[in-house]
Amino acid sequence: MHIAWGLAGALSTPWLLPARTADGAVAREDGVTSALREDTRSRDDVRATSAVRVGVRVFALEDDEHPAVSRAWFRERLDHANRLFDVIGVRFEVASWEPLRVANAPVDTRAQRDALGAAMNHEGQVDVYLVPRLTDVDAPPAQIRGVHWRLRRDTSRRWIIMSAISGPMVLAHELGHFFSLPHGAEPTSIMNKRPRSNPPWEQRVFTPREQTAMIAALTRMLDSGRLTPRKAR
Ligand SMILES: [Zn+2]
Repeated sequence: MHIAWGLAGALSTPWLLPARTADGAVAREDGVTSALREDTRSRDDVRATSAVRVGVRVFALEDDEHPAVSRAWFRERLDHANRLFDVIGVRFEVASWEPLRVANAPVDTRAQRDALGAAMNHEGQVDVYLVPRLTDVDAPPAQIRGVHWRLRRDTSRRWIIMSAISGPMVLAHELGHFFSLPHGAEPTSIMNKRPRSNPPWEQRVFTPREQTAMIAALTRMLDSGRLTPRKAR
């Protein structure tokens, strides 16, 4: 099921962080996205048609008695992720928005994290589960904002879980993990979890080193079929 707001909104979203490093621009020409490049007339067209469009399948609680998040809430987080991933030519789009059973939320244990996605095939796209509560399984009852989770019995199967307390940058951070990144120490990196005020979170990015690693991961996932680019409309 296509979600109209996701597609139309993504198209009309201004690119607020157009700055692109030389590394990113060069890497982009190196092959990951060049195969998808089409004959286009303007720079904006090139950007829109050359991006690798990655579908995001969202599972969210849609129960009036247990509201966790809204589509606008998720959209804000997706928009921020897209601003940060533009530098490597990846654009995320909501492919579907599906209900999450109340029985599956909240998520307090490793078994419950496994149970969210254990029955599903995660090939081709990124699956994101939005839950009202996500407990730190290493230090309960502390709460965390998000996690990139691997099914314990088959760690090739993985997905993202976000809690209702996650801020606007959390989805981009977890997608960084999805694209192979560990936590880092570079001050400007969104993957650096050390509390700091400079730069403020909205100015944190994927560093050139991280961009290179993500492009390699993207290439692997496209080659293996783990990710299947969505076709241009
Ligand atoms: Zn992390």
